[in-house]
Amino acid sequence: MAELFYEDDADLSIIQGRKVAVIGYGSQGHAHALSLRDSGVDVRVGLLEGSKSRAKAEEAGLRVTTPAEAAAEADVIMILVPDPIQADVYKEAIEPNLKAGKALFFGHGLNIRFGFIKPPADVDVCMVAPKGPGHLVRRQYEEGRGVPCIVAVEQDATGGAFALALSYAKGIGGTRAGVIKTTFTEETETDLFGEQAVLCGGTAALVKAGFETLVEAGYQPEIAYFECLHELKLIVDLMYEGGLEKMRWSISETAEWGDYVTGPRIITDATKAEMKKVLAEIQDGTFANTWIAEYKAGLPKYNEYKNADSQHLLETTGKKLRKLMSWVDEEA
Ligand code: NDP
Ligand code: MG
Ligand code: MG
Repeated sequence: MAELFYEDDADLSIIQGRKVAVIGYGSQGHAHALSLRDSGVDVRVGLLEGSKSRAKAEEAGLRVTTPAEAAAEADVIMILVPDPIQADVYKEAIEPNLKAGKALFFGHGLNIRFGFIKPPADVDVCMVAPKGPGHLVRRQYEEGRGVPCIVAVEQDATGGAFALALSYAKGIGGTRAGVIKTTFTEETETDLFGEQAVLCGGTAALVKAGFETLVEAGYQPEIAYFECLHELKLIVDLMYEGGLEKMRWSISETAEWGDYVTGPRIITDATKAEMKKVLAEIQDGTFANTWIAEYKAGLPKYNEYKNADSQHLLETTGKKLRKLMSWVDEEA
């Protein structure tokens, strides 16, 4: 059974007694820096001179300095720059400023799990990974709620690493929703698998294939968009609230029958066999190495995929239709 931690299990005063550097001010960085500050923590943000995010962090009233200065000042250093550049940022700005007893924090375990970053033995190495996008982490915190977090300790040099990580998670609202104890290995492998096979990759491919099937059969793209993409949110909301059972309680008996007989024809044993291959390539480091190489080559294939999808009829149709629905907020 998973070990769960809530508000009373975490002591906010631990993180309030430390100096925290948040390196990066993107999706997660802004959420962590602002929520820690609002929780009474001494925070500075580390960004390069000329960084696009600088103005935003300063406008929000945060103190911004370079990654190296932030790492030198702080005793808890949270790395929230993109995964493929973390090793470079670590080498240049963080490693020279680590001292015994400091703590290195991550929002995702990839660089530790696959050995791109190798911290010295005398620092704590922890992870606080919110299970939601950064903008939601911040919004939920402001609303008095929180996004569940998973927390791990790779290296406990001080003997207090787990309590420190729990305290940090409390500072960003995580313990309001619940924190689960994990390891860097479990977090990294399940996170990569989930986003690739189900949440992002699997869902995007399913939506596209369904949309294309209808349009190629001569149905109107607008109808296909509503059927295959727009309605997905309503279905997922029901699953989120009450699992598959609540979704099936709400849909018609006809839809439920179709769910049972057709679902397994779409996601077949072959799909599951492919999922197992995907998982094996994550576990043996193939995925991480390929991705870092793609990033270092200047993202040629990444940009190709991105451009192709932005011109897909699904996307151009969706853009047009969302403008007509004032309550669908693209900025949210
Ligand atoms: P983003 O891409 O949103 O943010 C990148 C930030 O890093 C920007 O502020 C950028 O500044 C800054 N940056 C880029 N290069 C450097 C550099 N060399 N030195 C200092 N700062 C730099 O990242 P995410 O928030 O998506 O991801 C951060 C971490 O959080 C990753 O480990 C990710 O796996 C993890 N994570 C992310 C989630 C999410 O919701 N996105 C969910 C859970 C975990 P500039 O403005 O100049 O580009
Ligand atoms: Mg991820
Ligand atoms: Mg229907």
